[in-house]
Amino acid sequence: MHPPYLRERAIQLHAAGVPFSEIHRRLGLSRNTVGGWLYGKRAARIKIDKRCPRCDRPPRAMDDPRAYAYLLGQYLGDGHLLTTQRVPLLTVTCDMRYPGLIHEVSYAMEACGARTAGFQERTGCVAVRAHWTHWPCLFPQHGPGVKHIRKIELAGWQQEVADVHVVRFLRGLFHSDGSRFANRVVVNGRRYAYPRYTFVNKSTDIMALCGRALDLRAIAWRMARPDTLSVARREAVARLDQFVGPKW
Ligand SMILES: [Zn+2]
Repeated sequence: MHPPYLRERAIQLHAAGVPFSEIHRRLGLSRNTVGGWLYGKRAARIKIDKRCPRCDRPPRAMDDPRAYAYLLGQYLGDGHLLTTQRVPLLTVTCDMRYPGLIHEVSYAMEACGARTAGFQERTGCVAVRAHWTHWPCLFPQHGPGVKHIRKIELAGWQQEVADVHVVRFLRGLFHSDGSRFANRVVVNGRRYAYPRYTFVNKSTDIMALCGRALDLRAIAWRMARPDTLSVARREAVARLDQFVGPKW
């Protein structure tokens, strides 16, 4: 008896148009087993995981869109989706100095549908990880290679969640590739420090998504360098402070 997630994964790959021979090879199962699941008498009765809003027919809205918007921001920053294993694995790398943030990421993974998120310590950071068959449904922009040399485009439904829950989306982005720090300047011999935010990412597509989200909240920003977006105006920093703030 095979665990149910393998059957789900096979059905999912089949629905995505992956050739039959590729499916049983990738899952390490016999042709007969996979054939029975996809074409057998009982195939029509097999239910797909109800936790996945995208596999529901018709696709439904996310159960917790706020958590998803946050996780999407984190994923675009420091996330990675591995789909070559039997069950896809989502990893978000967090700085070990911010336990609050590690908690927020693992909570979001579970709120989006993963059963449990785990932690793996690495040098100076913690990888928050969760296996789930349906991560590729939730993050269709996964693909081989690093994000900044691939085209990153949100699906219509993803852009909608990111727009409606833009403050959560921005929080996710700034919690991953952003930072808030005190900019120190000396004017006429006096020292001043004022907080500012930067967001650093090599992907121009991800940078455009961040700029779009800031525009939606009318938060002023500019590009300080080709890979660095800066929010430095006092009122703009104050607005970001309302829902991003220092990493914790
Ligand atoms: Zn799904």
